[in-house]
Parts: sequence; structure tokens; C-alpha cells
Amino acid sequence: MSQERRTAIVTGSARGIGAAVAKRLASDGYAVAVLDLDESACAETVDAIKSAGGEALAVAANVADEASVAAAVERVASELGAPTILINNAGITRDNLLFKMTVDDWDAVMNVHLRGAFLMSRAVQKYMVDAKFGRIVNLSSTSALGNRGQVNYSAAKAGMQGFTKTLAFELGKFGVTANAIAPGFIETEMTAATAERVGMGFEDFKAAAASQIPVNRVGQPEDIAHTASFFASEGAGFVSGQVVYVAGGPKD
Ligand code: NAP
Repeated sequence: MSQERRTAIVTGSARGIGAAVAKRLASDGYAVAVLDLDESACAETVDAIKSAGGEALAVAANVADEASVAAAVERVASELGAPTILINNAGITRDNLLFKMTVDDWDAVMNVHLRGAFLMSRAVQKYMVDAKFGRIVNLSSTSALGNRGQVNYSAAKAGMQGFTKTLAFELGKFGVTANAIAPGFIETEMTAATAERVGMGFEDFKAAAASQIPVNRVGQPEDIAHTASFFASEGAGFVSGQVVYVAGGPKD
């Protein structure tokens, strides 16, 4: 089909998995909106994309805030082009055992992951429907299968899977696919913070995790970017409503 440069939005792409996905999609040829809470924090990702010859725009937004999302998506459409690829990656953890978990910890996690993915997808879908093409990729997690100390996060990440499948049903006839990636242990600031919280050095924490992973290593953000690149591609148009565990092995 005729190809203008497509525009992708990657939420939470100032660092970590989101930054790797943004860089990969830019190298795949898309114009990429690098969206995160703080615009200045997006500079590193944007600069890396631009210095590699790609096109990128830093956009500040809180995905959990309706007005902020609406303004950000409009800005992307006018400055970069109609967004037809959306990666719902922004995420936080507020881990605690159930009896110690506060309502704020519960709400904060639900709001960023589920409310955020809902608001972003709703704001972007009209551009996808108009274009009769769209790719939505949602970040789930192996924690969707249950993980001690993460009752909020595991519920949100399981919710992302149901959300993904329903988007696939509703939007398929408009040429829009929706899929989820469920990463296992990926080396980012999120897992570094977990190591700190449990009182372990990050190197020891990663080694302990790797010993439980069939491919005998922890994941890197680029492992997730590779899968996101596939889901975003033209050729993946018959793959929808799927959850791919990118975890170095099957998950139990
Ligand atoms: P990360 O390093 O903590 O990066 C997350 C990014 O999201 C940060 O830049 C953060 O900004 C941003 N963000 C947080 N709340 C936001 C909001 N309301 N609006 C916009 N941006 C927001 O995390 P990561 O490890 O790359 O994880 C990325 C995604 O993969 C998350 O959905 C996570 O749950 C999922 N995941 C990660 C792993 C893993 O092992 N790392 C495993 C499974 C799933 P601030 O810095 O300003 O907070």
C-alpha cells in the first residue's frame, strides 16, 4: 500500500522499555512521539532518535489525566501527523503485601496502567479508524499471572490483557489490531528499584532472576522493542488480540 511515514506514540518513553521501543520504531521508519510525564526527561530519547536520522517529538502528558491525554494526542496529530500506532507502555509499581497496601497505592497503579491505556486508546482510535489502519500494543507483564506483593500491579496487568482482546474485537473491522506484550524480568530502573526495595544489589538480583529463566539471562528493553516492532508492522495485520510472553521461556 502507499506509505506516508506513519506516526507512533510511545507512552512512558523517557527511559526503560518505552525508550527502546521509541528508538526501534523510529529506526523502522515511523515518526515517534516520545510521551512522558516530564518533557525535558524525553530529551535523551528524542536526541538519540534524531541523531540516528529519525523523526521524534517530545510530548509531556500524564496518561491518567483525560485533559492531558486529549491535548497531547492533538499536539502529536498537528505537529507529527495522525497517530496510527500506539504503544501503551507507561507504568509504575507501588508494591506491598495486601494488608499493608494503601488505597492510594491501589489507585495510582490502576490509574496509570488501565485508565491510562483506556484514555490513550480512546483518544487515538479516531485517527486509526479514519486511516483504516491502526496498531495498539499494550504492556502487560508476567505478573498478570500473580505475583506476591503486587496485588494492584498484577490486577492491572491482567486487566491489560482483557482490555487488549476487547479492543481487538471492536476495532478489527477498521483495520486496527490490538496485542499485548507480557515481559518477564527486564533490566530497567523499575527492576532496579525493586532490587533496592528488597535490599539486594542489582547485580545479585539480576543473577538470581537469570538463574530461574530458561535462556539464562534477564531481558533487555530491546527484547521488548523487537516484539513491539513486529506487532506495529504492516505484515502483522492478521495478528490481533494476542498476548505474547517475552520472558525467556514459558511462564507457569
Ligand atoms: P520505567 O523504567 O519505570 O519507565 C516507566 C516510564 O513511564 C517512566 O519514564 C515514567 O516516568 C513513565 N510514567 C509513569 N507514570 C506515567 C504517567 N502517568 N504518564 C506518562 N508517563 C508515565 O519502567 P519499565 O521497566 O521501562 O516498564 C515499562 C512498562 O513495561 C511498564 O508498563 C511496566 O509495567 C512494564 N513491564 C516492565 C517489566 C520490567 O521487568 N521492567 C516487566 C513487565 C512489564 P517518570 O520517570 O516521570 O515516573
